[in-house]
Amino acid sequence: MEWTSCVQRLINHTLEKGLCFQKRLEELGSVSYASDAPITLINLFSDLNSSIHLELIRYNRTFSATQNNQIHEGLFYKIQSLSAFLAELYQLVSPVEFSRTIRNPVSVSLPIESFAKELVPDAFVLVYPNYTCNYSYLDILSEKYLRSQYYSQFFPPKLFKKYPKHFVLLGFPDLLRNNILCHATIGHELGHLIAQHYNICSKVREKISQDDYLDISLEQLETFLEEYVADIISIDLFGPAAFFALAEFGGSMRRFEEPSATHPPLYLRFKNMLSAMKDYNHWQFFVEERSNGVENEIAKKMRCALETWEKAVKTGYEMLESSPSGCVFNILSPALKEARRLVKQKIDKRFQLELPDKMLEYTESLIKNGIPPSGDLNLTKNSCERVQLGVILNAAWLFKVWQFEIKKELRSRPQAIKYARKFEDLSRLTQKAIEQSETIKWYHKERE
Ligand SMILES: [Zn+2]
Repeated sequence: MEWTSCVQRLINHTLEKGLCFQKRLEELGSVSYASDAPITLINLFSDLNSSIHLELIRYNRTFSATQNNQIHEGLFYKIQSLSAFLAELYQLVSPVEFSRTIRNPVSVSLPIESFAKELVPDAFVLVYPNYTCNYSYLDILSEKYLRSQYYSQFFPPKLFKKYPKHFVLLGFPDLLRNNILCHATIGHELGHLIAQHYNICSKVREKISQDDYLDISLEQLETFLEEYVADIISIDLFGPAAFFALAEFGGSMRRFEEPSATHPPLYLRFKNMLSAMKDYNHWQFFVEERSNGVENEIAKKMRCALETWEKAVKTGYEMLESSPSGCVFNILSPALKEARRLVKQKIDKRFQLELPDKMLEYTESLIKNGIPPSGDLNLTKNSCERVQLGVILNAAWLFKVWQFEIKKELRSRPQAIKYARKFEDLSRLTQKAIEQSETIKWYHKERE
């Protein structure tokens, strides 16, 4: 094959593509954003694009200096890789565009972005609505991606020096943008970031004996471990809310006993999450005798909901125990136990969910008055105490669990309409509570 004409055409085409991309980045860079994340991403892409441009010019020089068909062939494949990567960058820049549409409730995406930044100061997170109905996570500055060996042939490591260690694109389903309760699932995505940052998976992998997984694909073992660890972290951050959100969202995607290529069956994920809830005392908070003797209607409802789940998960586990996913789960078991310990130790106490003692009474009094939870636990006392994101999400779920019970008694249509409206209100007011808690945070920061 004659490579000469192909190479020349490909160089010209790719250079042109790069110029178009630069124009698009300039357009996106000229508008204002609610956070620093989009501009950081635009700058990164712009640097990558300039690097690609220089690389192409260099290839062009090599190309012109020789007539050797073999060298031209080698160049062709290198340029093709760069061209494919440029196309990928085009895709990766769309979250910037999506993030600033009205479909992205900033009252939720901004607190999540700043929560992530506080959790892992060396990270940027961009939250955006996704058109595939799923939550998604991609760390473009990880060693699996841009910092990988593959890309180091095109980009010098010093290019990344001025950027954070992680840059995460975190998508949420556009369809569920107003269902804030389901967004507790984001705890799982943040779990991937934390696990990666503290190297949790590689540390706990030592707990698995080599002889145990002779018959199992190492790749599946590793991906499932990553998912289970992210789930443990979601429980540490958001407690029962993370569990209920996954049950509701995950359950709408597939059956509880089916694994996917990348994720273990939900039943096994639930089993792992329930163990974490017990280790982290969230379970005892609702289900076992409470030491301070506080017991009310909400605690009873929550206990009932959790115990029902525990029974279902036990049956699910027995069904899956001898399946390939069940075997992987059992092999991973000691590693998951170690992960629960390590997670507790690594994450700053400020971000680990602590259910406040007055939570049950607080939620109860608000429910009785028909008001979903607010961003200030002492709202009635004219104070200014910030509430953790996890506490707000749990109060909202408590409210919802309570409503589930009422639902069974609904008989007339007006009652059903009233009930649906309450749910809408719940999501809207939970957003307000998150917003309010953010305002309180800034209030305290400014007074410091
Ligand atoms: Zn995941």
